[in-house]
Amino acid sequence: MPLEFQPSANIARMKESATLAVAAKARALKAAGLAIIDLGAGEPDFDTPAFIREAAVAAMNAGATRYTATEGILPLRDAIAADANRRLAHGAPITAAEVVVSSGSKQSLYNACVCCFGPGDEVLIPTPAWTSYYEMVELARAVSVPVFGEPANDLKVTADQLRAAATPRTKGLMLNSPSNPTGAVYTRDELAAILELAAELGWWVLADEIYLRIAYEGGAQSVLEVATARDNLIVINGVAKAYAMTGWRIGWTIAPLAVSKAMTAFQSHTTSNPAAVSQHAALAALARTEEADAVVGEMVRAFRARRDAVVAALAAFPSVRYVHPAGAFYVYINVAGFRGAADAGAAFAAAVLEEHQVAVVPGNAFLTPDWIRASYATTEAIAVDGITRIARCLTGG
Ligand code: GLU
Repeated sequence: MPLEFQPSANIARMKESATLAVAAKARALKAAGLAIIDLGAGEPDFDTPAFIREAAVAAMNAGATRYTATEGILPLRDAIAADANRRLAHGAPITAAEVVVSSGSKQSLYNACVCCFGPGDEVLIPTPAWTSYYEMVELARAVSVPVFGEPANDLKVTADQLRAAATPRTKGLMLNSPSNPTGAVYTRDELAAILELAAELGWWVLADEIYLRIAYEGGAQSVLEVATARDNLIVINGVAKAYAMTGWRIGWTIAPLAVSKAMTAFQSHTTSNPAAVSQHAALAALARTEEADAVVGEMVRAFRARRDAVVAALAAFPSVRYVHPAGAFYVYINVAGFRGAADAGAAFAAAVLEEHQVAVVPGNAFLTPDWIRASYATTEAIAVDGITRIARCLTGG
């Protein structure tokens, strides 16, 4: 008798990543010859800057082809610490010992969840939030507790809402600004209130800052610029979004020493070091600040122009409600009531793909089924065409 696969208790409730599933579907439809406008994937359309690619080639030819330290090469961890110290407002400078480099910020987040949370712990997730937070917390066998933001506050949550959702089992919270999926950016005061609450109640704060450099209105604040202490902070970042390096898979955590050691030990059993050549590419991105600032600035300016163009296109459809996109490269659009469907976002995503050839991510992936996410990390013309089709589909135009 062939063995029948029964998912283990570890993954019994797990669902596939909806963001990656939409990306895969859009790729497959394109490969089949359909002219799909892909606003699904949250992936910069730019090539990795040339000086970074060249640094990787040089490193590979110089022998960066072997294992490295599990936590990553020291020069990269030094460069990450130096980069973070430029934002740090209080306390002793961050050192390389507090940095663990992983195979993408997704792994960094997962390391942090597994090491800080366990069975019975509750983790507050300001919602809507990136689909994988809920799953990672559950894979760590903790309980994910969504805390819903109000549309009037761009779907951001307040410290008061978090306090109201807390129980004695609350162990931490996920923070993400600029936000995926909404593009909303927390103000300094909002962050300060949340950090103060977390410090008061002894919560871990997992601050996912992967979109930090992609913000359009005076910039986004890092928790490092706001927090008065770091002992409960785990800051997660990576090169994927700001440097257009999604495929290189390099992310990192900045965390207190004991947490960093635990995450290194955990990683030593799961993946060991991230790819050596990718670490050298990331080193160029982080250490060659002048060249990096120039190319990142150029990409952010392009994202901003697309953001402006998308907002201008939506202005022609005044009944369409969306979160003001102040950062990242997403626009989060309300589709409540679409064709009377119970899951309006899923119904809309299916309809706009089938009838208008636009791929978007349904809001149920982010626990808010009345919404859909459109990514404008594509050319301005494609973004505007896609958004216009979305608005037409929604308004029946
Ligand atoms: N984070 C991006 C997104 O939300 C990439 C896909 C993923 O890893 O979820 O689309």
